[in-house]
Amino acid sequence: MEELQAFAAELGEKPFRGKQLFRWIHRGVRDFGEMTDFSKALRAKLSERAYVEGVTVLKVQHDKKDGTRKLLFGLADGNAVEGVFMRYKYGNSLCVSSQVGCKMGCRFCASALDGFVRNLTAGEMLDQVFAAEQESGESVNHIVVMGMGEPFDNYENLQRFLRLLHHPEGRNLSYRNMTVSTSGIIPVIRQFTEDFPQVNLAISLHRLDDAGRSRLMPINDTYPVDELLLAARDYTEQSGRRITFEYTLIHGENDTASDIALMKQKLSGMLCHVNLIPLNRVEETHLAGGSRKRAEEIAKALCAQGIPATVRRELGGAIDGACGQLRLKNKSVY
Ligand code: SAH
Repeated sequence: MEELQAFAAELGEKPFRGKQLFRWIHRGVRDFGEMTDFSKALRAKLSERAYVEGVTVLKVQHDKKDGTRKLLFGLADGNAVEGVFMRYKYGNSLCVSSQVGCKMGCRFCASALDGFVRNLTAGEMLDQVFAAEQESGESVNHIVVMGMGEPFDNYENLQRFLRLLHHPEGRNLSYRNMTVSTSGIIPVIRQFTEDFPQVNLAISLHRLDDAGRSRLMPINDTYPVDELLLAARDYTEQSGRRITFEYTLIHGENDTASDIALMKQKLSGMLCHVNLIPLNRVEETHLAGGSRKRAEEIAKALCAQGIPATVRRELGGAIDGACGQLRLKNKSVY
């Protein structure tokens, strides 16, 4: 808002024009020509001097059974990222991407298969929300930053995005309706805890022994399990909020009796919720998912120990729902 007010002043306009501009942009309007409370002269001046950074919808895969829509967003520089629009009982949720590609290199994930390209700007993250609303004709009530990329590897822009979404003159979305998921970058988890105690945090755990987790997730070499769990505990204590642990089940890799024993041992007593995710098969990784029955068994075992656990509802099973899969399969589109 302040930046747009300064920009308006730079154009020789009153600062409230900046406020109007902010409101238009946050209604998803990208064309200055449509900003009807501006004079023709101002609209022309704006078009000459500026553009509204946005995304376009390149492709939609719609799972009509459950209402899930997987979106391929095109960026101005020719790159593409993904978003997923999901319907839940409590409202619509949009999964947003934070980077083109990813540096983390988790073995089961399609996002990093092509390496890292660049960070998304706050505007590009925000416009995924507006573009998804325009495409579906429905409103987005929750956002989860669980798409492509590692949000805590792009914290400056992530921060701006969350604040913009929350801005009363903008989308005015409550911080409680936002969730950020990280592979476990501890110093940024600590910073985030200070900056956004009202935003939900999810950590991708997937294994609880250092040797095994490092094989699945190379970031574990830098930020090992026990330190990660300490940072998680500090988040719950400082924020008073339950933390989510994502645990993608990979057959024979992290779903054995000893893995479950370790979960019971390390997560007992924490203000947490374990979200068991059946692996979405990514051909290139040669890893196999477990059965839903096994996932239910594990959830039951954890619950018996007082650790709340559920198996993630599988939405969009028909449409390449996992991170990075749609982009990978549609290289010809962008
Ligand atoms: N980089 C962040 C957010 C993006 S990934 C993070 O790691 O948390 C969102 C979640 O999907 C993560 O828990 C990730 O581990 C999981 N995921 C990635 N590929 C998957 C696959 N093929 N099947 C199931 N879950 C997957």
